[in-house]
Amino acid sequence: MANTNKRAVDILNKDDLIVIGGAGGFIAGALTKYFHDQGFTRIRAIDKKPLPEWYQMTDGVESICMDLSIEENCIVACRGAKEVYNLAADMGGMGFIEKFRIECLRSILINTHMIEAANRAGAERFFFSSSACAYNVELQKDPNVRALKESDAYPAMAERGYGWEKLLSEMFCEEYWSERGMKTAIARFHNVYGPFGTWDGGREKAPAAICRKVIETKDSGKLEIDIWGSGVQTRSFMYIDDCVLGIDMIMHCDDLIATAINLGSNELIAINDLVTYTEEIGGVKLERTHDMDAPQGVAGRNSDNTFIKQVLGWEPDLPFKEGLKRTYDWIEQQYNDRKAGKRTVS
Ligand code: NAD
Repeated sequence: MANTNKRAVDILNKDDLIVIGGAGGFIAGALTKYFHDQGFTRIRAIDKKPLPEWYQMTDGVESICMDLSIEENCIVACRGAKEVYNLAADMGGMGFIEKFRIECLRSILINTHMIEAANRAGAERFFFSSSACAYNVELQKDPNVRALKESDAYPAMAERGYGWEKLLSEMFCEEYWSERGMKTAIARFHNVYGPFGTWDGGREKAPAAICRKVIETKDSGKLEIDIWGSGVQTRSFMYIDDCVLGIDMIMHCDDLIATAINLGSNELIAINDLVTYTEEIGGVKLERTHDMDAPQGVAGRNSDNTFIKQVLGWEPDLPFKEGLKRTYDWIEQQYNDRKAGKRTVS
């Protein structure tokens, strides 16, 4: 298979319109900034959150507060678009997706309306942010899990709610290419973390939650931490900069049209080790308790990167400890800002 390795800068004119859904959130906010920093002059960023609540606002970008689960809004959002990136979804960490399955399933409205609107608007390419939660849960029952390769999504037994929505939306991407010839890209993200991600409030994922808990214990002097589950469960975590670069490469690779591909790190981390690394960064040693009733998700999950390395000659590679340190420092700053009454992301 050819290694195309093209990016937006190789394919688009700087004044082509790029539309990004979910831009008030973590990943799409970073993607918006990434394209803006590369000199793209017409970026339309959309999110249903009011503008003051966006995690990142990039100057010079058309930023719109609009609900993309409504068809008419998607038509307006996609008008004139050369490329559409849909990352809008009602989602969060395990605590959210196990509790709010209906909300997660309802994101199907966003995806069905956005892909249709993109196609009607004549967009050349459409990006969909799928998830490792689309994989068969039966294959993820052991912490020493075999890394998941793309074919492991079928026979299908996705994560309830969230995972099935992702799997069905992937199918839309496949059919819009096959029936209508619109180039679609499908990346299955494995946990993404980094600065400007949710770090409090119930939707945060494990790295941000553990960083916040360690910072809280240092502040309160109560050197205890409550871990969800035994802590033996394993995951891989991808740093945000790797994620946006991967999105750009996957979107512009013609060998990957309508083909789901893993976008994740393959550095497997046990939650107990995540706590240890965070303690090291924070310079504390905490007494651990384990909440066995808390949501834990699958026992183990890792990304098999054979396919992405074969096609792109690249994989997400920032070492976890390095990304965790950057994330910890950012959350500590956020924590202090919030205490000082300043505006923060979560
Ligand atoms: P996020 O929650 O930070 O961002 C999603 C954004 O979508 C939010 O700002 C939210 O307000 C917006 N949104 C929700 N419903 C909307 C609607 N009806 N109209 C317009 N905007 C709406 O999440 P994220 O971490 O940036 O995730 C982005 C995408 O990546 C999502 O599709 C998610 O499922 C996928 N994903 C993320 C991860 C991860 O680890 N963060 C892992 C796998 C997949």
